[in-house]
Amino acid sequence: MSSYKLKVLLCGAAAVGKTSLVQRFIKNRFATNYKLTVGVDILTKDVNYDGDEIATLSIWDIGGQQRFEFIRSTFYKGAAGVLLVFDLSRAQTYAEIRKWLAEIRQFAGEHIPFVLAGNKVDLIEDVGEVIDREEAKRFAEAENSIYIETSAKTGVHVEEAFGELTRRIIKSRSGQ
Ligand code: GDP
Ligand code: MG
Repeated sequence: MSSYKLKVLLCGAAAVGKTSLVQRFIKNRFATNYKLTVGVDILTKDVNYDGDEIATLSIWDIGGQQRFEFIRSTFYKGAAGVLLVFDLSRAQTYAEIRKWLAEIRQFAGEHIPFVLAGNKVDLIEDVGEVIDREEAKRFAEAENSIYIETSAKTGVHVEEAFGELTRRIIKSRSGQ
């Protein structure tokens, strides 16, 4: 029995791995060729967040090119939290994070909980470090968030990212 139903958004630049993260999280699989998300996909999953407490997440995965005004207002309306994703192999996707955060706060509320996910951590071996990961951590903490490095490919820290987001949403609601 779930006492919480939470709308969670995936945000971030195109091709950072939003669809791949939700597929890994929900179906525990990875494919190299998800079609570009068109419109919005909504997937549901129950998450254990505190012992045997369960929250039901409805995870909204929006296509990068679908950011028209009318879709945007539906997307952000009633959102409880955001997984804000960038790609650890492309610095530009990290540079855009502040813009995303400003938009999220404008449309979903100043205090909406979010988790900053640096995805594709598996690629660092090959690509090297293209952003300052310590700075990402400091940035997240300064914004009352947490920085988690994930890989939809290997699955590393994917559960943790969604779990941490769920805990933060519930904590913020119980006013702690
Ligand atoms: P979206 O546009 O943000 O939804 O990104 P997608 O999930 O469609 O992923 C874009 C591309 O990055 C695809 O080719 C994925 O296979 C790839 N990808 C996603 N996550 C990872 C990851 O963690 N590691 C690696 N190596 N590739 C990834
Ligand atoms: Mg997608």
